[in-house]
Amino acid sequence: MSSSVPNERVRNIGIIAHIDAGKTTVTERILYYTGITYKIGEVDAGTAVMDWMAQERERGITITAAATTTSWKDYAINIVDTPGHVDFTVEVERSLRVLDGGVVVFDAVAGVQSQSETVWRQADRYHIPRVGFINKMDRVGADFWNAVGMIRERLNARPLPVQIPIGAEDGFEGVIDLVEMTALSFTGDDEVTPQPIPDHLLEEAKKRRDGLLEGIAEVDDQMLISYVEHHEVTVAELKKAIRRATIAGLVNPILCGAALRNKGVPPLLDAVIDYLPSPFEVPAVHGMNPKTGETEAREPSEDEPFSALAFKVVADPYVGRLVYFRVYSGVAKQGQGLYNSTRGQRERLGRILRMHANRREDLDSISAGQIAATVGLKHTFTGDTLCDESKQIVLEAIKFPEPVISVAIEPKTKDDQERMGDCLTRLVEEDPTFKARYDKETGQTIISGMGELHLEIIVDRMMREFNVEAHVGRPEVAYKETIRQANKAEGRFVRQTGGRGQFGVVELEAEPLPPGSGFVFENKLIGGAIPKEYVPAVEQGVREALDTGVLAGYPVIDIKVALVDGSYHPVDSSEMAFKMAGSLGIQECMKKGKPVLLEPIMKVEAATPDEFFGDVLSDISSRRGQVVEVDHRGHLRVITAHIPLAETFGYATVLRSITQGRASYTMEFDHYQEVPASLADQVAGRMQGAVRR
Ligand code: GDP
Repeated sequence: MSSSVPNERVRNIGIIAHIDAGKTTVTERILYYTGITYKIGEVDAGTAVMDWMAQERERGITITAAATTTSWKDYAINIVDTPGHVDFTVEVERSLRVLDGGVVVFDAVAGVQSQSETVWRQADRYHIPRVGFINKMDRVGADFWNAVGMIRERLNARPLPVQIPIGAEDGFEGVIDLVEMTALSFTGDDEVTPQPIPDHLLEEAKKRRDGLLEGIAEVDDQMLISYVEHHEVTVAELKKAIRRATIAGLVNPILCGAALRNKGVPPLLDAVIDYLPSPFEVPAVHGMNPKTGETEAREPSEDEPFSALAFKVVADPYVGRLVYFRVYSGVAKQGQGLYNSTRGQRERLGRILRMHANRREDLDSISAGQIAATVGLKHTFTGDTLCDESKQIVLEAIKFPEPVISVAIEPKTKDDQERMGDCLTRLVEEDPTFKARYDKETGQTIISGMGELHLEIIVDRMMREFNVEAHVGRPEVAYKETIRQANKAEGRFVRQTGGRGQFGVVELEAEPLPPGSGFVFENKLIGGAIPKEYVPAVEQGVREALDTGVLAGYPVIDIKVALVDGSYHPVDSSEMAFKMAGSLGIQECMKKGKPVLLEPIMKVEAATPDEFFGDVLSDISSRRGQVVEVDHRGHLRVITAHIPLAETFGYATVLRSITQGRASYTMEFDHYQEVPASLADQVAGRMQGAVRR
């Protein structure tokens, strides 16, 4: 495909699904039908084109969010790979930032599962238009209308079936296209020729098409008029109306198929083109002018100043450090100077590469709406903005959650030790939710991430890609602290014995904030109690002290601290003195504020056959788990529960053994919650005994 596809004919999409719903298979088939892959790879056989990392193949999950460009009917489709596992929600979040539309894959038997619910809500937040694909129509228990109902109820969406299946399970043969009113049979080879609708399905098809028109008329005035006045609606008009309503986020066209059996993917590609927006049809992107602090917009046009967001950095074995980015406005040429406005650094755009599933294409330039990768950027990381130095803008950065779990790792030999440093630097660079640090006091390297699986995969990559063998310690929970009561305290740092002294006195107010608020500092000084230039030092002192809480030395979160009063000395005051005063003051506030210990709580969804339900449930309660919901899905019972992370270690093994391997589960970080008092003492005791972190 050449780089000259006009922007109206570009689609930037992501394929989103609950693990196992068939995202990889659908992506694979898309690449096959769009002519890029010549042989259909199967996930089960471990040859899927997008799953290029070894352990992804073994685990059958997709972790990285690389972007692949392909083409369909003169349109360029950029597929940004979204991960299928919720330990990696942040990967989903970052890919959602750069998408214009999504294809959400559902399992026709299971319907809406917990991860699709999570991602759906994230996509709502970013106003991403979506079409739904109900996959696995060939499976025993496949039920199209049940899945549609779940989309309506569980996702609070307005699903709009634009197809209905012909048959189901073994008898799934094809679909009826309700827009064109034709039958598409997938029983033959890849070519699907539209046929007249068989007589016995005609009545149902007409009824469903009326339902489709009604659904559109409810949200689209133009269609409402036609509908009320009984005008004949042309196929073109109907497609336009569905497109308008989808892009406005009012409906979600629903299609179905069985990707594994090569059924239903070409019509899905048509729907991507017909119903999802081009980069020109999405709203302007907003950001801040770093010089004025004002919000500015960049229209998706080549005539605007250049702006782009880096959304993924990977260490590529062939070309080196590869930065994936999406251009929102303007044009940039290879070799051109750019400005990283997030970090205030000049950069030069090296080779611009468009990544296809099995090859790379060099581009001379890249313009608004396009996605590509580049080699040679030195200072640019995930979430950074690249722009024109004379027209600076900082686009909203991607928010990354703090890691909730850590383990100590110890290289086996001296050689391993040497390789490990380099390897960790690269892994940290690729994954903003992964952190690594060296603890000088214990001489250990501590790595932290979003879950047990996340860290297992990292250790696995260390071994495979970097050949580092290491002993891995016991997982440690990232506890936090907060206060429960607002209070006021003084921080006084005064040393005035001979020579130049130290003088800083502050009065601080601290109050608890709702969960997830982090840390907020406010300057509420009236008059000149303390000269303005010392305020940042006070804030700095407070921040540093909050790194180590007073209960067990864990970081303090969800707290607002206000500087309300203080006093200074014309000679003895200094930034250092006020920083110390800030630290002392906040420590006092924490002691007075009823400090509590918080622990990460995971949301676990376990699906088990009926006969093991009782055992799975009692195991959950023995882990201090709280059941949120129990649901029937076919012959399975699905338990959604909140379990403290500290109690989840080894869950996979236990679940397997109590259900003879017949249950499956997913787990993701949900929120922080107070540790029960009895356990809090134990945790604090352990910390006091241990070396200070
Ligand atoms: P992902 O985890 O969402 O990427 O799902 P995969 O594409 O890896 O698919 C999960 C499993 O479902 C694999 O064993 C696939 O072979 C199987 N699968 C995918 N699509 C279909 C389908 O249309 N029908 C059936 N019966 N199985 C499918």
